[in-house]
Amino acid sequence: MTAEPTPTRPSDFIRDLVAADLAAGRHAGIVTRFPPEPNGYLHLGHVRSICLNFGIALENNGRCNLRFDDTNPVKEDVEYVEAITADIRWLIAGWADHCLGLKPQGAQPALQTVNGRADHYLAPATPGAATVEPFFASDYFDRLYAYAVELIKRGKAYVCDLSPEDTEKYRGSPELPGRDSPFRQRSVEENLDLFARMQAGEFPDGARTLRSKIDMASPNMWLRDPLLYRIRHVAHHHAGDRWCIYPLYDYAHCLSDYLEGVTHSLCSLEFIPHRALYDWILGSLDLPRPLPHQHEFAKLLPTYTLLSKRNILRLVQEGIVGGWDDPRLPTIVGLRRRGVPAAALRRFAIETGITTYNGVTDIALFEHVLRDELNRAATRRLAVLRPIRLVLTNLPAGEIIECTATNNPQDESPTTRTIALTREVFIEADDFAEVPPPKFFRLKPGGEVRLKYACIIKCDEIVKDAAGAITEIRCTAQLDTRSGQPNADKKVKGTIHWVSATQCLDAEVRLYDRLFTVPEPGAEEDFLKVLNPKSLEVVTAKLESSLATATPADRFQFERLGYFALDKDTAPGARLTFNRTITLKDTWAK
Ligand code: ATP
Ligand code: MG
Repeated sequence: MTAEPTPTRPSDFIRDLVAADLAAGRHAGIVTRFPPEPNGYLHLGHVRSICLNFGIALENNGRCNLRFDDTNPVKEDVEYVEAITADIRWLIAGWADHCLGLKPQGAQPALQTVNGRADHYLAPATPGAATVEPFFASDYFDRLYAYAVELIKRGKAYVCDLSPEDTEKYRGSPELPGRDSPFRQRSVEENLDLFARMQAGEFPDGARTLRSKIDMASPNMWLRDPLLYRIRHVAHHHAGDRWCIYPLYDYAHCLSDYLEGVTHSLCSLEFIPHRALYDWILGSLDLPRPLPHQHEFAKLLPTYTLLSKRNILRLVQEGIVGGWDDPRLPTIVGLRRRGVPAAALRRFAIETGITTYNGVTDIALFEHVLRDELNRAATRRLAVLRPIRLVLTNLPAGEIIECTATNNPQDESPTTRTIALTREVFIEADDFAEVPPPKFFRLKPGGEVRLKYACIIKCDEIVKDAAGAITEIRCTAQLDTRSGQPNADKKVKGTIHWVSATQCLDAEVRLYDRLFTVPEPGAEEDFLKVLNPKSLEVVTAKLESSLATATPADRFQFERLGYFALDKDTAPGARLTFNRTITLKDTWAK
């Protein structure tokens, strides 16, 4: 695999903090993690977090673990585990894949006793691994259980019998302190016994919980004896059917970070009030190794885009889009299918930076980066999306005039290919106007225009059907205006694209546009009311025949039209389907 360019080293407050921690000798090395919950597919927002976590590992010769925070089996699925793993593999390949933490092979190291206490040390990852070996919080369920027992023994956790509704009532509100649960003073012995029986499956869902014993009057609601474990009699997609109690996210997260030797645990701003709990849990266990620290940054929220797996799931379930990989979705699978290169996603994430205030990012910025990346990388081809037949009356049928076309003018030494000019060609219907508006420099009756890479043509005649629709445009080719011919320098105002009508392919081309008509669909009462009815138009296009060998990994610019990629579902030998990645210009700015 060829190494992809690394974006220039970014700088932000989190990187400053990491540098300061290293300078102060607080850590021997840097370990970060990207911790998705496998309850949906990754989206553009996650790209920021992935690039931040893997980027910091990359820049500091550290590692970054992909860890599934899979503590809620009710909403999770292996489908999501596999999709997320594949997305990360694609997104960081050739850039930061060597920073992936490698899961220790075989059995996990036995529980060790350090300083007379149980420390469940995980062997540090082997550096240099280039495969994605995800970690799972559910692999730590035994250790998390042992830590919970330790918290009970220390008088820092108790089993509570309040119903979920009563637990909520006792919690109070931001203005009103909570009240102690009537079960808060249970003895350590009773708590140990009840917790063991919860684990053994003696009680139904919701009958009991394990709670931390912190402070029901704390102004921080997250410190009002938050739940650590709840009963759920369901099997787990990764851990199997061994468990009927599951740890809550906040409890599992900080300890998973600790177990993996994470130094900097980076999350989005809504976790600020959870930080005290993160520190409380770790601090309550007297753990022997250095503790991880949580730092928060603002989420990425691009305009005209709906993020959050929950919202995207609704679009999928209600059939608004064709699936998680619909190219109109901001999911990584969708973007990839649309033809967005991984490098463009990474550049966008890095160029939008890391801040501490929430705000929206203009999607035009993403589109700018995307066009810039594709302009550099895409192979130029000729295609006609809305074809109209044009006959070059002075060319005999069967004659082929070979023209030379440039593959990518952005290359250092651009290569060329040969395309066929024939008596019949297709041009874009809107490149011809029978009654041209002012300053119309394309083809009009009696007018001249250049066929790109070929020659100048002159429009002599229009043929119409009985209903008055134009069926054919008849022109004369000025063959002496071809490159290398005496009149090659002749100037005309317009140049249009075309394809040979006898040497071309039919293809389905899907023209995607933004899915929503308003900048912040997520802020609407119902985002289904602001769907863009024109987010997908399908046309039957005519393509230059060299596109027959295209693969989904290729990036093309159809000249004058935009950037396109072969759809991943095009079967070999079947009619080609292309997706429009993006237009050449921002048509929304007007
Ligand atoms: P969603 O709302 O889409 O479900 P989430 O935050 O619940 O997102 P997780 O699976 O928990 O999704 O996300 C994994 C990581 O990605 C978390 O650390 C989270 O903070 C981060 N993340 C999620 N959305 C964004 C975003 N829009 N911008 C930056 N980081 C994000
Ligand atoms: Mg979530």
